[in-house]
Amino acid sequence: MKPSRLLSMLSGIALIFASALSAAAPAAAPVAVTPSAAPARAAGADRADAFRVTLLGTGTPVPSPTRAGYSTLVEAGGQKLVFDFGRNVSVRLWELRIPLGSIDAHFLTHFHSDHLVGLPDLWLTGWLRPPYGRRDRPMALYGPAGTRALAEGLRQAFATDIAIRHKDEGSALTGITIDAHDVAPGVVYEKDGVRVTAFENDHGDNIRPSYGYRIDYRGRSVVLSGDTRFSPAVVAQARNADVLVHCVTLIPDALLASNPAYRAIYDHLSSPEDAARVFQAAAPRLAVFSHIGLNGDATVGQIVERVRKTYAGELLVGEDLTRVEISLDGRAGSSGGIAVWQEKP
Ligand SMILES: [Zn+2]
Ligand SMILES: [Zn+2]
Repeated sequence: MKPSRLLSMLSGIALIFASALSAAAPAAAPVAVTPSAAPARAAGADRADAFRVTLLGTGTPVPSPTRAGYSTLVEAGGQKLVFDFGRNVSVRLWELRIPLGSIDAHFLTHFHSDHLVGLPDLWLTGWLRPPYGRRDRPMALYGPAGTRALAEGLRQAFATDIAIRHKDEGSALTGITIDAHDVAPGVVYEKDGVRVTAFENDHGDNIRPSYGYRIDYRGRSVVLSGDTRFSPAVVAQARNADVLVHCVTLIPDALLASNPAYRAIYDHLSSPEDAARVFQAAAPRLAVFSHIGLNGDATVGQIVERVRKTYAGELLVGEDLTRVEISLDGRAGSSGGIAVWQEKP
């Protein structure tokens, strides 16, 4: 793995664009980029005092080699939580040398395939005995109603593989069991000071249930919008949060006019203007884009330009393996630092 680049680490709020994007984002506020190794204290993935977000996949259904399907890792107090499982989630985790079997809990926002197709891979490969796997306890999976049925369907689909590996490789069945939970909105996970709250967002009338998640740890908070158009629920959950990770989609007018299929996509995801409204109302310390829909000839620079018409706060356009660490120094409510760095160019 290439050494990571430190994008910024300031004592106050860090305002950073990934350096590759800054040139395409002329409307952005000044960028503080200091290429460097990641801070030594950030290297220990299991530090009990770490509260860190890693964008494993910032993409959409587009089969992109650079933007994996949507997935986000949140590390808090030595626990590793993964939210959604888009294409290549396993690849991204192992690029960080995080064994797939070491994830403490898994959370699903909704049943669109771009959030799910990586789940069988993460589940099955995480059970294998080499260092990249090694799950020896049931896979904890939380999601909206239908999650248990999904787990049972996966078990049936891969029953032959599971039986073969159990017999041939002696893999214990405990590690391939899915401990699946259908959860209602509210607190769905609480362990050693880490609390995960599910809430309903607004992904359109035909796409229910659909959740976002809020993660709280030691007075700090991270909110993941999930797939949503403008949602007052996201605003409420993210008000004054430390980090808000929000989806964004840009579909050029000409494309909308020429291909009506894009209208449905635009109707249930956030345009740059929708996201800016959320950021403006919620005022998170750092707003982050992931699940970035660049349709037609749309660019990141255009997204930023449109957001900047109404939102002047801290904004980061994520790339795969962008990492954001919230400092836990100081008392809750005080302004600790937020560091952002990129694990690979
Ligand atoms: Zn969706
Ligand atoms: Zn999606």
